[in-house]
Order: sequence, then C-alpha cells, then structure tokens
Amino acid sequence: MIFGRTQSVCPVCLRVLDAQKRAEKDGIYMDKNCPEHGQFSALIWEGNLASYLRWNTENSAVDPPKDGRAPDRGCPHDCGLCTAHLRKGCCALLELTKRCNLRCPVCFASAGETGEDLPLAEIKRQYDWLMAHGGPFNIQLSGGEPTVRDDLAEIIRLGWEKGFTFFQLNTNGLRLASEPDYAKELRAAGLNTVFLQFDGLDDKVYITLRGRPLLEQKKRCVDNCAEAGLGVVLVPVIAAGVNEDQLGPILRYALEKSPAVRGVHIQPISYFGRCALERPARPLTIPAVLRLIEAQTEGLFRAADFTGGGAENPYCSFHAAYRIRPDGGLKLLPRRAEGCCCTASDDSRVSVAEQWSGDMTDFDADGALTETSALDEFLREAWRASFTVSGMVFQDAWNLDLERLRRCHICEVDSRYGMVPFCAYNLTDSEGRTMYR
Ligand code: SF4
Ligand code: SF4
Ligand SMILES: [Zn+2]
Repeated sequence: MIFGRTQSVCPVCLRVLDAQKRAEKDGIYMDKNCPEHGQFSALIWEGNLASYLRWNTENSAVDPPKDGRAPDRGCPHDCGLCTAHLRKGCCALLELTKRCNLRCPVCFASAGETGEDLPLAEIKRQYDWLMAHGGPFNIQLSGGEPTVRDDLAEIIRLGWEKGFTFFQLNTNGLRLASEPDYAKELRAAGLNTVFLQFDGLDDKVYITLRGRPLLEQKKRCVDNCAEAGLGVVLVPVIAAGVNEDQLGPILRYALEKSPAVRGVHIQPISYFGRCALERPARPLTIPAVLRLIEAQTEGLFRAADFTGGGAENPYCSFHAAYRIRPDGGLKLLPRRAEGCCCTASDDSRVSVAEQWSGDMTDFDADGALTETSALDEFLREAWRASFTVSGMVFQDAWNLDLERLRRCHICEVDSRYGMVPFCAYNLTDSEGRTMYR
C-alpha cells in the first residue's frame, strides 16, 4: 500500500527522484525509480503502518536559517543553508583535520594517517561566519581525529572568546586514554563533553569496525575524563551482524560509569564514506534498535520509553531521558521536563548542552569547593542522577528522504558552502563519490 510521497536521490548517480512510501507486512519501504539506473527500494522502518505513523511527533513549526541563500538548483544542491531549509542550525561541526591516528574500516570522513589540518585562520573565519549567521551554535569539534592537533585547547579557547558556549569533542579517545592530563587541559580550555566512539565491550567488535583491539583504551579514556570532570557520551556505531548484541552491555557499562558518563548516543551504521561492510537488505531501523535495547537490558530500558526527535524530523532520531533512582532503577522523565521537546532550535541547543555537559561542581582557585546554595545542591543532584539514551539514524543514498533533510539542524561547516546538513555533506553514491565533501 502506497501511503506517502517524498523525494530522494538515485544511489548510483545522485539525481533527485520522486519517491513513494509503501507499507508491507514486514515493514515500510521507500521506492524510487531512476530513468537511467532503474528501481530502488529501501527498508526504512520495521513494523506496521500504524507504528510508523504513531512515531510521527513532528511539530510543524518552521524556524528557517538566518540569512539563508536563495535556492537555485533545488534541494539537496543549494546547501549553505538555503531559505527552503526549515530549521536553523543547532550543532555546527568543524572538521579540524583530515588526519586520524586510526584507519577504521568504517569512517564517514574517510580519514587516514595523512591529510590537512584546517588552518587556525580558517577556523577563526568559520567561527565568525557562524556568529554572523545565527550563532552561537553548539560546536562539535570533529575530523578526522581532532586530538591529533596540538592546538585543540587553543581552538576551544578561541571559540569561547568568539562567544560560543558549548563544545563537544568527537573522538576515538586514544589520546585522552594515553595522556591523563590531556582531559584536564581540555576541560580547563572550556570543553564541555566528550563524544567517545565506543562500539562495545568486546575487542572483536573493535577489530572489525576499527581495525584493532581498543577496549582497554576506551575504558581508560572514560576514567581519565571522569577524573577531569568532563562529561562523556558513549557513541556506538551499531552494525547488523557485527555488534547489535552490544547494546545491553554498553548501556550497563554507561550506567556503572554515571554521572561521568552522561548517556549513550547510538548510531545505527549508515552506508556512506569509507564503509567496508556490505549494505544489508534489512539495515537496522529505529524499531529494531529499540527492541534490541529492551531485550538486552531485560526491560530496564523499554522500547516504549522512546520518542522521535523534537527539533529534527522524528524519523531521524530517538530519545529517552531518565532519573537514576538510588536503588539503581530508572525513572523515565517526561520529555518536556528535560527540555528536549523543543519547538525551536534555541531550546534544542540548550537542551543538548545541559544533558551532556560535565560535572557542574565549581572549584575555587585552590581546588576547594565553592560555597553553594540549597538550590545549587538540588540542581547538582538532579544533574548527577540524569541519564539519557538517544540515537540518530543517518541517511545514505539508499534511504535519503529530502523531507527529513530539510529539517536537519546538525550541519557541517564548510568554507565554500557555509552550513551543510550532515547527511548531505557525507552523502556518497554507490561508487563513493560525494556531493559536497
Ligand atoms: S538540505 Fe536544506 S539547505 Fe540544503 S538544499 Fe535542501 S533545503 Fe536547502
Ligand atoms: S544529520 Fe541526518 S539523520 Fe541527523 S537530523 Fe540531520 S538529516 Fe536527520
Ligand atoms: Zn541514477
């Protein structure tokens, strides 16, 4: 049964195609037909039509980018952002380097040992551009592996001077693991949170996805960040047949390491960039991930706890916020209480920052605790007990839905284009050719 229409691209030539959504007994599919390359069909939801429609909590509010450029060739070819975009940014990703100290078989940025760093002068220009186009945004320091740069602390300080107030480091954690003082140095510079690539608690997983065993280093990184008062979010890439059995162990480990670990942000693998894995006929969709979470945690986290994103298109993401009870149980928090059921990107920006930042405890210059009020204590306790589980299903050329893309608020910053939604920036065709990168 055809029940919806949208637009997508051909996975071979990336031309824009009309697409239909079709409900079958075993799931929801997106169908499209390229005049040159034929028919394509991609699973986008495991479950029936009712469950698919129930997930749609999209608020229709439109909050377009400030000073967007006039559309010219049509979406997704006008990113920058253009005035047809429905959301201004929330998170801006700065790719500080193309270099990495790993060469993962799976890497959306196709990073390796060699490659250029973004010059400091260019980073300054990008900060200024962002401030002039709706900033301050939450800044994601990304790459490549940003910690291979020795001036990372300086880049964070510079960002604060420019008026940005939230900095997230996307990292494989190797340097944070091997240099205990490094976490302290980054926190002192103003880093708020570490998004740590963390694919499981079994080294076999790291060998497949990252090319070598890394579990001990991941754990050391978490401990070093905890000691430095840096919030950590564990970010597993989950691939069917590789580590979908790791969701339960990752969540339990994260709870064990709370409050330093603020939560888990799950990324079902997308087939773009460098990806040594074959795209399966049934890639992981949101309902499949939620079912695995419930089954592997014996119902501690329930599939029914989760709802779709509020700021982005709901089919892009899932989210649940909890309070950890003294007995170790979890209390599901209503979304609004967490401030993440936002109708505007400003709320989204603040919500992300509050959930994932590190220890809010304040120390004076001698390292002693500063005097706090009862309200401060209350807030600190609320922060300590809070824990979030979220995830984002990035789109690839097979399942790209331009309606989802137009609501994207996670953008790569590029000196040629401005802000480009993450899924457009990283889109590759079946031969690995890019549209923007
Ligand atoms: S993704 Fe957004 S910014 Fe890019 S072309 Fe489409 S509407 Fe414009
Ligand atoms: S990055 Fe991709 S999956 Fe995430 S909100 Fe943007 S379009 Fe959706
Ligand atoms: Zn084609």
